[in-house]
Amino acid sequence: MTVNIILLGPPGAGKGTQARRLVEERGLVQLSTGDMLREARSSGTEMGKVVAEVMDKGQLVTDEIVVGLIREKLEGSDAPGFIFDGFPRTLKQADALGELLEGLKQNVDVVIEMQVDDTALVERISGRYTCGNCGEVYHDKTKPSAEEGVCDACGSTDLRRRADDNEESLKTRLLEYYKKTSPLIGYYYAKEKLHPVNGLASVDEVAAQMKTALDKL
Ligand code: ADP
Ligand code: AMP
Repeated sequence: MTVNIILLGPPGAGKGTQARRLVEERGLVQLSTGDMLREARSSGTEMGKVVAEVMDKGQLVTDEIVVGLIREKLEGSDAPGFIFDGFPRTLKQADALGELLEGLKQNVDVVIEMQVDDTALVERISGRYTCGNCGEVYHDKTKPSAEEGVCDACGSTDLRRRADDNEESLKTRLLEYYKKTSPLIGYYYAKEKLHPVNGLASVDEVAAQMKTALDKL
C-alpha cells in the first residue's frame, strides 16, 4: 500500500526538516517543489530563468509550472509513497494533485498542518542554511553544524543561505501563504485528512506528533 503525506505550513514551519526524517525512517520519497524550482534555476533551464525573479520576490510560481513538475515525478514512479513538501500551495494545485493521484489509483492519505506563529517564522528563516550537496537543513541557533562550514551529514563545505531568506521576501511569502495556501486547511479538513501539529515544539516532538497520525494509517 502506498502512503501519501502532505506537509502544509508557512515558510519556515519545518516542512523540509520533517520530510527528511520521514525519508530516512519510512523510505518515502520527498517531493519539494521549492527544491525542484531551485534546481531548475541553478541548471539554467528556460523554466529556471522564468521562475527566478518570481521566487526572489517571494511570489508563487504559476500552477501550470509546479503541477507539471509534480506530474513528471509521479508518472511511472514505483515509490512506496510521497511526502509533498511545499505543494500544493493553491486550491487549483490541490485539485490537480487529487486528479493525478486518482489516475494512479492513489489518494492523499494525511495532511499534516504545521502550526507556527509568525514571530517564530522570522527567527527560523533568518537563521536557516542548508547543504547544497545533500540538502541537510541547519539553523544558526537551534541546529548549527558540528564543525563550522562543514555538513554533518555528508561532509560537504557547500553550506548556503537562500536568496529569498530575507525579511522583505519573507513578508511577501507570508502574505502569499495566508492569501493562497491557508484555504487548503479548510479544504483538507472537509475531506477529513487534516492532522494539526504544534510546529513550535522541538524537531523530535514534532516528529512524534506526526508519528501518531501516520501510525493510524
Ligand atoms: P520549511 O521547509 O517549512 O520552510 P525548514 O524545515 O527549512 O522549514 O525549517 C526552517 C528553519 O527552522 C531551519 O533553519 C530549521 O533548522 C529550523 N527548524 C525546523 N524545525 C524546527 C523546530 N521544530 N524547532 C526549531 N527550529 C526548527
Ligand atoms: P520553498 O522552498 O517551499 O520555501 O519555496 C520557495 C519558492 O519557490 C516559493 O516562495 C515560491 O516562489 C516557489 N514555490 C515552491 N513551491 C511552490 C508551489 N507549490 N507553488 C508555487 N510556487 C512555489
